[in-house]
Amino acid sequence: MSCIFCSIVENQIPADKVYEDEYVLAFKDVNPVALIHIVIIPKQCCQHFHNIEDNTLAHLFRAIKIIIQENNLEDRGYRIVNNNGQDGGQTVNHAHFHIIAGEQLGHNLAGH
Ligand code: 5GP
Repeated sequence: MSCIFCSIVENQIPADKVYEDEYVLAFKDVNPVALIHIVIIPKQCCQHFHNIEDNTLAHLFRAIKIIIQENNLEDRGYRIVNNNGQDGGQTVNHAHFHIIAGEQLGHNLAGH
């Protein structure tokens, strides 16, 4: 069965898309932790960051840069997060990055 992010890629469930190209899709997080919370995924399903193919990784980071620029975040700042695996707190097993921004964020990186 297809994972939830694959279902978004395949337009089987709706999402508020903010960026799309051949390799990458980005959409607003359904449960935002800040005023701006965008999820960036490779269209090809891959569970872990360390298994993302290099070319796709380049496209993902390029998309992240574009989204940062489109949201005028260069001056105010932003946070890029990748939760990976069980200890990393990954809840959706389709590798993804978060852009979290739009307000002053805390300093707690451990997230305990
Ligand atoms: P993780 O915890 O795996 O790093 O992040 C998964 C993220 O996906 C969470 O922030 C969660 O709110 C978001 N999410 C889960 N299901 C959906 C969905 O169906 N639509 C959208 N837009 N976001 C989702």
